[in-house]
Amino acid sequence: MSAVRRARLSFLRTADRRHVQVAVVVAVILAVAFSSLLPFAGAPDDNAAATTATRQAIPAKRLVGPTELPVPPATDAQSRAVLAANDRVGPIRHGGGDRRLVALTFDDGPGPYTGRVLAILRRTNTPATFFQVGKNVEADPNPAHATALLQRVAIGDHTYTHRSLAAMDVGGQRDEILSTAATMEAHGERPPRLFRPPYGAFNQDTEALMAQRGMALILWSIDSEDYARPGVERIVGNVVSAATPGAIVLMHDGGGDRSQTVKALPKIIRRLRARGYGLVTVPELLLRDPPRRKDQHVAVAPPGVGQGAG
Ligand SMILES: [Zn+2]
Repeated sequence: MSAVRRARLSFLRTADRRHVQVAVVVAVILAVAFSSLLPFAGAPDDNAAATTATRQAIPAKRLVGPTELPVPPATDAQSRAVLAANDRVGPIRHGGGDRRLVALTFDDGPGPYTGRVLAILRRTNTPATFFQVGKNVEADPNPAHATALLQRVAIGDHTYTHRSLAAMDVGGQRDEILSTAATMEAHGERPPRLFRPPYGAFNQDTEALMAQRGMALILWSIDSEDYARPGVERIVGNVVSAATPGAIVLMHDGGGDRSQTVKALPKIIRRLRARGYGLVTVPELLLRDPPRRKDQHVAVAPPGVGQGAG
């Protein structure tokens, strides 16, 4: 091999090494740039239904493992009644129907209307149950804290991001439920014993998680349809005309404009009491009027439950 050819080969090898070095540097820059974009790719998107998008949407600091959050012991009569009812009938839609008791429930808060709902409940001495969304508790802890301080108010878990659980894997469901429980506890609330799945949608994994976590899956027997904003009198009529002993009523203090709900609430309370109904929290209902038989399990939203309900 001539000296010229050797020199030429040596130059090419050096050039190759330089190319490799440049390629590595470019690859590292691209990787860093791309990874910095990922949080935006996983940002919350109401239209995103994919499980992967759902899991990315939960802030990493909120993710908790199944062993990181202790299962709260059922030490009081109401907690024991809740668990007994869940064991007996699975997903709970109503009490036993033996006593004239109704449980009003409010979903999707806390939010801008929560304080007004709490003021009405306080003024009328009305017990109620709130199913809170974890990210809303995180964003606006003051109403969450006010709710926790109110007498005869029960608070339940309504997932962290309010996505349907029906098509979500068990890990994603666990994240949604436990992240909310952890957030609620961090804001001074008791560990949630009650859980309501968004849109009333759940599957067997949800029920297994409930059993594992010592929680009860609470649905409803009366939909006020307040989320559709059909007018104050319509909301009042939807609840009062459908009232039965043991009913669980679905209403909303968060998730949108709830001014109609706020106006309807005092009328609902007054008219239900005029018909001889006592208003109670869900745990009180399950203690005083326990469900009697095993309901048929459903893996999808119950009939009549439309988008926006729950
Ligand atoms: Zn909801």
